[in-house]
Amino acid sequence: MDDRRWLELACDLARLCPPSDTAFSVGAVIVGADGREIARGHSREADPHAHAEESALAKVTTGREPPDPGAAALLRAPGTTVYSSLEPCGQRMSRRLTCTDLIIAAGISRVVFAWREPSVFVEGKGVELLGAMGVEVVQIPDLADRAREPNAHLLG
Ligand SMILES: [Zn+2]
Repeated sequence: MDDRRWLELACDLARLCPPSDTAFSVGAVIVGADGREIARGHSREADPHAHAEESALAKVTTGREPPDPGAAALLRAPGTTVYSSLEPCGQRMSRRLTCTDLIIAAGISRVVFAWREPSVFVEGKGVELLGAMGVEVVQIPDLADRAREPNAHLLG
């Protein structure tokens, strides 16, 4: 049941996103194999193009306060999981590296998400790309409505 609890938190974090008509509002939490939170983030948290997973990862690898040199190693530990309200992007318009690229580069082995990316801005494909790289991907689809809610204005 822990997966569900963390994913609910990710869905709640999506409500903190500054409003946008050109990007989804997403929340993400990174949790270690010991069940403790490593970092959290949401879309447009640090800058107008930031994605939720990217924001959370950046806190671990660069801007963490206080600095925690062991945190990057935690990401690579088996069982470390990224919880994201939306499927991690496999394509994006704003930046070269997608969240799928960032997750793979960080060595994260597991992703749990609620809502598959609808083809509003780009084609999703994050699930397939992560799976092809050996990342375990789990969807909890009954939380998709909760992930969709802060994005209702984008869905028509
Ligand atoms: Zn992304």
